[in-house]
Amino acid sequence: MDEIKKDIPLEELKNIKGEQQIVDWVVNWFRKQSLWVLAYGTGCGAIEVPPTMTARYDAERLGIRGAATPRQADVLIISGYLSYKTLKRVIRTYEQMQSPKYVIGLGSCVMNGGMYWDSYNTAKQLDKYLPFDIYVAGCMPRPEALIDGFVALQKQISQGKSDGADRYKQNIDWYKANQREIFGDKMLPSYTCDWYYSDGGLV
Ligand code: SF4
Repeated sequence: MDEIKKDIPLEELKNIKGEQQIVDWVVNWFRKQSLWVLAYGTGCGAIEVPPTMTARYDAERLGIRGAATPRQADVLIISGYLSYKTLKRVIRTYEQMQSPKYVIGLGSCVMNGGMYWDSYNTAKQLDKYLPFDIYVAGCMPRPEALIDGFVALQKQISQGKSDGADRYKQNIDWYKANQREIFGDKMLPSYTCDWYYSDGGLV
């Protein structure tokens, strides 16, 4: 307990007014110290994730560790380009994760297709299909850059500014319309989002 007290920035806490704001601050503070990352690699950037998580860069010292299933994970790293086939699986995976949940985009391909910008089967501008909280630029970004991304995400969480999951829910019709443009009548059923019906519309 003393260890935890030592780590809590009490000075920052003293400046927060209002009971609800204090509760939110404390919840977010604990939340950012415990980020479980889904072990799922999507592009060449995936090769940088194992050294980030293991002894050399030791992300666990920051409270970041791997999770085997989407149900247990808080963070999804999109670690590079996504073919249309993979995009489908990624959307399904993201919808299976419990909120609050966060998405990190690793590498230039995530933002604009990168070197696959004119590929016939690679999705460009992935934020049309999934809500991103943090981008890490580069081709390919090194583990230090990914750790920087995690630290930026933790800062956002502690400030209550990581709202990707809320954006996905609030703009679900827009996201689904974009997804439908690619998948047509081969859309995945949204049976993992109990607040959304795949035939369009919120519950
Ligand atoms: S940004 Fe570079 S390393 Fe990352 S997926 Fe694209 S080509 Fe691969």
